[in-house]
Amino acid sequence: MQALYPGSFDPLTLGHLDVIERGSNLFQGLTVAVLRNPSKNPCFSVEQRLEQIRQATRHLAKVQVAAFDGLTVDFAQRCGAGVILRGLRALSDFEYELQIAHTNKSLAPQLETLFLATATTHSFLSSSVVKEVARFGGSVGHMVPTGVAEDLARLFNQSFP
Ligand code: ADP
Repeated sequence: MQALYPGSFDPLTLGHLDVIERGSNLFQGLTVAVLRNPSKNPCFSVEQRLEQIRQATRHLAKVQVAAFDGLTVDFAQRCGAGVILRGLRALSDFEYELQIAHTNKSLAPQLETLFLATATTHSFLSSSVVKEVARFGGSVGHMVPTGVAEDLARLFNQSFP
């Protein structure tokens, strides 16, 4: 079965990457899909985010990377995915994720949503925390793949160690 891991990935963190690696072991193929969502005012362009994900998942043969707009369930159908993969960090994620999962189920009953619990080492990680730390010059090397750390340093005009 094919699976779809949709998200903003602005930027990709090691928490996302952990879900991608574990997810790709569970399915025949996994499409990581960046949502084109102009209302979110992202730090990185969709093209930059695609490149960050491509670079970080080069070692994963079953992973494909794509961008999409519109409904996730429609894109899942176009990819031939039977499962939407999402990550859960803490109780605070649960309500929002459950609402999306129920909405998607009501739109596409044949499509399942599967949640992977985050690795405990990554449970504190979010794209916004990473951006906040990087903006004020903190080290993010343990939070994001190397390519992303370089992009963040460039974005906030800092030298990369
Ligand atoms: P969205 O805007 O769709 O929430 P995100 O890029 O923030 O996009 O997150 C995509 C998915 O990855 C969500 O299911 C989110 O809960 C999950 N996720 C985010 N950070 C982590 C992490 N550190 N560990 C595991 N899953 C995570």
